[in-house]
Amino acid sequence: MVARQTGDDKLVCIQQLRSQLEEYPPFQDEYLERFLIARSWNVEAAKMQLVASLEWRKENGIDVYPVADGKNNLPVLYPVRGYKSLPDQNLTAQPGVSEAVLRIYRYMGGSCLHKVDKDGCPIYIERLGYHKAKDLAKHTTAEEIYHYHVGCNEFLHRVVMQDCSAAAGRVINRETVIFDCTGMGWHQFHMPAIQLIRTIADVDQKYYPETLNKLFLVNAPGAFVYVWKLVKGWLDPGTISKIKILGSDYKQELLDQIPAENLPTFLGGTCECDHVSGGCVPSQVLKNTEPVVPGQANEQVVTAYNSDIMDRAKTNPDYRGACRFGID
Ligand SMILES: [Zn+2]
Repeated sequence: MVARQTGDDKLVCIQQLRSQLEEYPPFQDEYLERFLIARSWNVEAAKMQLVASLEWRKENGIDVYPVADGKNNLPVLYPVRGYKSLPDQNLTAQPGVSEAVLRIYRYMGGSCLHKVDKDGCPIYIERLGYHKAKDLAKHTTAEEIYHYHVGCNEFLHRVVMQDCSAAAGRVINRETVIFDCTGMGWHQFHMPAIQLIRTIADVDQKYYPETLNKLFLVNAPGAFVYVWKLVKGWLDPGTISKIKILGSDYKQELLDQIPAENLPTFLGGTCECDHVSGGCVPSQVLKNTEPVVPGQANEQVVTAYNSDIMDRAKTNPDYRGACRFGID
């Protein structure tokens, strides 16, 4: 199979892949399609990746990883704004969230899952330029980052994507990401910190393929913009159309993809979220919100939630959100 496919070819591939997965519960077309796109529509390769991801989920208990769904009173792992199923809230030192998550979060420049773009996809904003890269590498472990990332991914797919799908009236399984590089300097290019990013990228590529709608890197240093112009020529057109690396002249590009009322003012929109501490994107580093200090109720474990919650989620489906990860 070649990478360019007509609509009919795609359906044939999806059917072929489905017919080879009869021992599993029926998957949504959209779920199968993600693995096919990741493997350039090679059905055999897509099947191998999908089966490997199902095995990873089973071996590591990912299907029973707890997620906050607005009904089970679990605390969220990062701030959320603008979704029906959850009230707008921040990550706090509520009982249940592990000490490791709060420690990681302390050194992050600020992050938030903030409303939806014009395609109905959730928008994840991260103030990358303010990350304390050296502290992150020094005071956290790859295992803790891995668990935090998996916890966030599961919450995104099982709760927020379900919420966005219900609002849009169709399957939403991709997110739009804005990385704001404001504040970025050479100190961010710290090898141990880059290793941590590799841990995350590796998990995403293998087990959560094709979950990106658009990626905007804004306020990028000039060298980035220049290198991107060179690299673009080598990449698949599908990937290039998803990624925009922009300097200070980014506002119109963001507004083409995101309604102004869903975009924070600091990125050129009109949203301020002044009903929540920290506004649109709370940041411990920028101190625009109160510090989150771990207490006795935040257990020192590598997982994102305390061990009693990790255990409860294994037997109680109320702790697992909609739990329809790609299954019809
Ligand atoms: Zn906002």
